[in-house]
Amino acid sequence: MDKLLKGIMRYRSNVKDEMVKQFLQVKDNPKDEGYNFPVRNAGNIIPHSQHFLDEFTTNEPAALELGCVVNDIRHIIVCGHSDCKAINLLYQLQDSEFASQDNRRISPLRAWLCAHALSSLEKFQQLEVTDYSKPLIFQGETPLRKFVAYIDPENKFSVEDKLSQINTLQQLQNIASYGFLKKRLERHELHIHALWFDIYTGEIYYFSRAAKHFVLINEYNFDKLCQEVLKYYF
Ligand SMILES: [Zn+2]
Repeated sequence: MDKLLKGIMRYRSNVKDEMVKQFLQVKDNPKDEGYNFPVRNAGNIIPHSQHFLDEFTTNEPAALELGCVVNDIRHIIVCGHSDCKAINLLYQLQDSEFASQDNRRISPLRAWLCAHALSSLEKFQQLEVTDYSKPLIFQGETPLRKFVAYIDPENKFSVEDKLSQINTLQQLQNIASYGFLKKRLERHELHIHALWFDIYTGEIYYFSRAAKHFVLINEYNFDKLCQEVLKYYF
């Protein structure tokens, strides 16, 4: 806690004035300023709307409504990462004993993953039977806007990391399942993207629908990715 207090003192002298200025600009003109509303959870999972029950709703759809409807954010970015402990656990849930009712009762993390991430695991198993070579089909903004994804075509990541990439893409479909976003998605006013972060190399990948796989964002790919983003999303 003393570290936090010291950090707040540093913030007061170094950051505060500039930040307040930015907040005031956003207040007057939200679309011109970079505004983001991060939501973090175990496994970067957005529950599918089929699980939405008003009295038991989770934070994620509420955050989507607050960000995209109340504050009119136009881009949703799902960000997954390598060696994700939640996804490593999801991989183990293929074992039925590990995923048993009793084990779920004592582990909220297992219960959360079993309730909301089995669709990612099913996609992973589809890939596994083809020896990781065939592409997977995911749904984007609408049921008709499907896209093709080759997962880790260079085969440089572990099976858990392949599952993590699949899970990141699967969330796009879950986001699009919410009725309150439907019109915005259909009219191309709201866009959904996937990023994936390799924590041990520090590299960040963008899922390119044109290239059909996660593309490393570097000096070589930058222009191509910018063109794709401008062509499809603005
Ligand atoms: Zn994680």
